[in-house]
Amino acid sequence: APQGRDKASIQAMRQQHFSKTLSLSYREPLKIVRGQGAYLFDEQGRDYLDMVNNVCHVGHCHPHVVAAGQRQMASLNTNTRYLHDNLVDYGQRLLATFPDPLSVCFFVNSGSEANELAFRMARCATGRRDLLVVDGAYHGNTNACIEASSYKFDGPGGEGAASHIHKVPLPYPYRGLYQGANTASAYAQDLRGVVEGLEWRNTLPGAFICESLQGVAGQIVMPEGYLQQVYNTVRKTGGVCIADEVQVGFGRVGQSMWGFQTQQVVPDIVTLGKPIGNGHPMAAVVTTPAIADAFVTGMEYFNTFGGNPVSCAIGMAVLEVLEQEQLVSGAQKTGDYLKQHLAALAREYACIGDIRGMGLFLGVELVSDPSTKSPATAQTAWLIEFFKSHRILLSSEGPDANVLKIKPPMVFGQREADRFLDIFKQGLATMPALAN
Ligand code: PMP
Repeated sequence: APQGRDKASIQAMRQQHFSKTLSLSYREPLKIVRGQGAYLFDEQGRDYLDMVNNVCHVGHCHPHVVAAGQRQMASLNTNTRYLHDNLVDYGQRLLATFPDPLSVCFFVNSGSEANELAFRMARCATGRRDLLVVDGAYHGNTNACIEASSYKFDGPGGEGAASHIHKVPLPYPYRGLYQGANTASAYAQDLRGVVEGLEWRNTLPGAFICESLQGVAGQIVMPEGYLQQVYNTVRKTGGVCIADEVQVGFGRVGQSMWGFQTQQVVPDIVTLGKPIGNGHPMAAVVTTPAIADAFVTGMEYFNTFGGNPVSCAIGMAVLEVLEQEQLVSGAQKTGDYLKQHLAALAREYACIGDIRGMGLFLGVELVSDPSTKSPATAQTAWLIEFFKSHRILLSSEGPDANVLKIKPPMVFGQREADRFLDIFKQGLATMPALAN
């Protein structure tokens, strides 16, 4: 039965009392009232396969996570100024998933806050403010994060790069400055060029921040060896390397718990968010003892909500479900299955220009002409509405909005993959001719 306000009145109230900068998905927005596993349900009880939500990582409203939160909420919630088991139990369990020397964590409340803290720590550790950032990347909504996000400062409403921000090309094997698999050295050489330019001006980078796989820039897997070469360059100058795992962490890439492991590097600072609390607002920064010590300047670091017993109970439950349900190896299996069937579709439909990604972090780049790679922006938008009409939720990504972004809850399995592939095939077969 329908429940609550009707959609039109919610939209009218949003327009009256909320900022126009809050966007909605779809021409006809959905009202979603319930979630379970990989599915969302609207006010009419219709189910939608959720292929967008990488936050509700172990599945919407997972009963083990819900129960852990409810139990702790009914017994105690405070800040970290009293001794409590949850903080240390969860910290220990989380840190056990990291390689040495990453053994100190800070709990915060959002991915933006995690990156914000990472920048401050890098500044304390190096005494430098200059930051190397990747073109097209997004790292959060705070002042420092917007400054580090070319997606924002180069985009609508942006003010361009601040003087301490230095952009390096996006390592994008399909469409970037250098194309093909063996382009790590070329991209790393460009970063060296940027660093040399700084040296000429007697500045050195304090840090380099990079997602371990690129999200907002277009679901991109960087060429093999890129981070190794770049980390070497940055560390030679005394800078630190920050890996933003807010989107890709917690086993989404299938082959490992952390995206940086797919590039065979160990960062100095790692930031975590989105999936860490399965939708409960929490995030973390993980670093080395040396950097954590450099942050002890005499100024206390206090965070009202970060590391509270409820958040820690929820974070712990997420890690337990990941392990119990073997969701990381599941993501690998389902991701490989999807890629294999998508590759078969690509042989039939020339508009599928590129299929990329790892585990359940995949991108399908659509082009209107494979030889020029001209982005099929209108076709992608049409497909997203087509998927919606078949009750599959997907979003587009990349500067030309021509990449189908696949990042469902990790409980998305072969049955769900088959449903998606079937509808994708129907969509490709019935797509009208559209001008871009
Ligand atoms: N880093 C990356 C890579 C992100 O994708 C996001 C959110 N889209 C953030 C940081 C910011 O996280 P939050 O929205 O939780 O502040």
